[in-house]
Amino acid sequence: MRPILLVALGGNALIGKGESGTVEEQFRNLSVPVAQIARLSRQFRIIITHGNGPQVGHLLLQQECCSQAPRLPLEILVAQTQGQIGYMIESTLDNELTRLEGEHQKLIVTVLTYVLVDENDPGFLTPTKPIGPVLNEDSLAKLPYPAVKTVRGVRRVVASPRPVTIIEKREIKQLIAMGFIVIACGGGGIPVIRHGRAFHGVDAVIDKDLASAKLAEEVGADILIIATDVEGAAIAYGEPGEKFLRRVGTEEAERCLREGCFAPGSMGPKVEAALKFIKSGGSRAVICSIDSIEKAVAGGAGTEIVR
Ligand code: ADP
Ligand code: MG
Repeated sequence: MRPILLVALGGNALIGKGESGTVEEQFRNLSVPVAQIARLSRQFRIIITHGNGPQVGHLLLQQECCSQAPRLPLEILVAQTQGQIGYMIESTLDNELTRLEGEHQKLIVTVLTYVLVDENDPGFLTPTKPIGPVLNEDSLAKLPYPAVKTVRGVRRVVASPRPVTIIEKREIKQLIAMGFIVIACGGGGIPVIRHGRAFHGVDAVIDKDLASAKLAEEVGADILIIATDVEGAAIAYGEPGEKFLRRVGTEEAERCLREGCFAPGSMGPKVEAALKFIKSGGSRAVICSIDSIEKAVAGGAGTEIVR
């Protein structure tokens, strides 16, 4: 059996710095990680997860712009981005596999994914994650959701509760066993709470790296690759003594996390996700740049958390 490789793609896999995020740009950018994933699919069974920050932000902006159509709640927008980004990844992967192998026989599927969160998660008490567009300051008092003044202006804030379990883990496991390449957990998943047997979507955003590590753990993945726009995790990031780490033991990574070496909301959750995966029994976890996924899998790039 080929080992299972889970690749988590950051938002920059689709929209680069300074780009407006047209569909053409997104397809062009995607071919960089996806061509590598196509080659890796010869050696590994593949799961792809992805962020949705800019895309869900654009959908939120469309909500604010148009008063003729009813406003859609965040959970619906996250579901929409799983569809649109899933489509872009699937079709790009299909093209890359065709380029590589001609009439290929690989099966690809995108799974709409819910992620259970705890309604008593402390994250719900103080929503802190800014999402979507800068809003009109005068509307602050009338907004139907919490918002705060950030450095960029007034923005909506939502809670970022921790992922408890991936609801579709059994489906994803079976699909992998059947040989499918699976795209799942987009945008960190659709956050749901459970009352009895019923699921309810909630206004929240789950960190996609923590959700990816949870999925990797629950389906028994062997390798977790977190691909982003920097070569790995650095200490003194952006400062004179900056040093990118290559191999970090779990204890050192934990200490560094506690000491705040890695910014919360960006590199912090990536190191935490990699650590969690290794501690839950995963074989390898590497944080690397989008263009060095294959090199990271081979052990020649990125920051690897080791036991
Ligand atoms: P993604 O969309 O891939 O999740 P993020 O913006 O959330 O990307 O996280 C990657 C960013 O983390 C980098 O662009 C970098 O600016 C930032 N970062 C913060 N602290 C560190 C650190 N200690 N080492 C490396 N990058 C860091
Ligand atoms: Mg991120």
